[in-house]
Amino acid sequence: MTQEGFSYAFDPSACASCGGNCCTGESGSIFVSVTEIAAIAKLLEMDEGEFRRTFLRKEGFRFSLKERLVNGSYDCAFFDRSQNGCSIYEARPLQCRTFPFWDYFRHRIDELKAECPGIIHD
Ligand code: SF4
Repeated sequence: MTQEGFSYAFDPSACASCGGNCCTGESGSIFVSVTEIAAIAKLLEMDEGEFRRTFLRKEGFRFSLKERLVNGSYDCAFFDRSQNGCSIYEARPLQCRTFPFWDYFRHRIDELKAECPGIIHD
């Protein structure tokens, strides 16, 4: 998988053996839009207010998914270690859908390769 403007490619088959490095590890922000909040709450069959209180934290003017501390790792609240995957995959936020083609990584390829075994770069 490639994307215009990025010098690396991504092989999604690496996800099967990775253990969710992009959904766990250092604490970070997983921003969700109002539309995404509604879609995730619907998928979980939760009242949107309850979903917001349970799974979101406010960061400035934006909302981010909460994390769970597991053995020193900050896991996204929706990363399922037993399944090695995202438990809201169909409704995962755009930020997750566009990984690893983020502006942040465009010129930080070594950092990205250290995190993601699916990166192909000469
Ligand atoms: S929403 Fe899903 S894909 Fe996104 S960080 Fe959480 S577990 Fe990973």
